[in-house]
Amino acid sequence: MSSARLITIANQKGGVGKTTSAVNLAAALAADGHKVLVIDLDPQGNASTAVGAAHASGTDSSYEVLLGDCTANDAIQVSPEDSNLFCIPATIDLAGAEIEMVSLVRREFRLYDALAKGFLDEHGFEYVFIDCPPSLGLLTINAMTCSDEVIIPIQCEYYALEGVGQLLGNISMIREHLNPELHISGILLTMFDARTKLAEQVANEVREQFGAVVLGNVIPRSVRVSEAPGFGKTVVHYDPSSTGAMAYIAAARELHKRGDYPPHPTTGAIGVSPEIYAELEG
Ligand code: ATP
Ligand code: MG
Repeated sequence: MSSARLITIANQKGGVGKTTSAVNLAAALAADGHKVLVIDLDPQGNASTAVGAAHASGTDSSYEVLLGDCTANDAIQVSPEDSNLFCIPATIDLAGAEIEMVSLVRREFRLYDALAKGFLDEHGFEYVFIDCPPSLGLLTINAMTCSDEVIIPIQCEYYALEGVGQLLGNISMIREHLNPELHISGILLTMFDARTKLAEQVANEVREQFGAVVLGNVIPRSVRVSEAPGFGKTVVHYDPSSTGAMAYIAAARELHKRGDYPPHPTTGAIGVSPEIYAELEG
């Protein structure tokens, strides 16, 4: 639908770093000179807060866009921190959207239809990050019908892979019925605590299971990352030299440099590296 890379950040497990990853990857890419849009699809509005977007109830937001009450152009805001960083915010009004959308036509494609009208290319966006709520409902489906790529943040903690199987199943289902281009192009290990054996174990397990689609850069647990939202900022803007910010900057550059991981015809939803692709092809 556009030359931008559209990336859904999803994991129905709560508190794994979806929002933190969406806004910081976006902020890091914007700081590197790319034009980036964050679409907040979580009624909690945390991504909107982090990029400094107004999101009081009634503000033109993803809710109005999904319901067809305003255009993406009406809802877009520029971040006060960076003129390359834009946001379509979420307000608390979005909390009712999943139910309100059930009776609408093309309910799975409301976001797709809103973005498909040349909006992304007119603005010259190179990256679009869509922050999802911790569920696999219609909001997440709307993100996945308009993205090719999914990045799954995985917290290096107990039960890290809980629910990931279900998420993979949903991605396969969406590939089959709604968006054949959808695939996982990245798995990002978050809140890594180098002092614990457990974090190391989880990271190894994830790498064993998913291979090269896991980004080499890992996000450490860092107090600066958790403080930043309190100042209405990403950690990239709040404290760019902190370990958390530097990790997100490195992960963003890795994501940019390696590009998309195309899905392999036989491995389905999981993106694979060009090397593995070649191996599979024999
Ligand atoms: P939800 O499912 O509620 O949308 P989420 O998956 O978007 O949650 P975040 O909101 O990004 O998760 O992170 C959960 C909490 O962990 C937040 O308070 C955030 O500030 C904190 N956090 C995220 N990443 C880190 C990190 N690397 N170091 C320390 N704290 C972090
Ligand atoms: Mg979130």
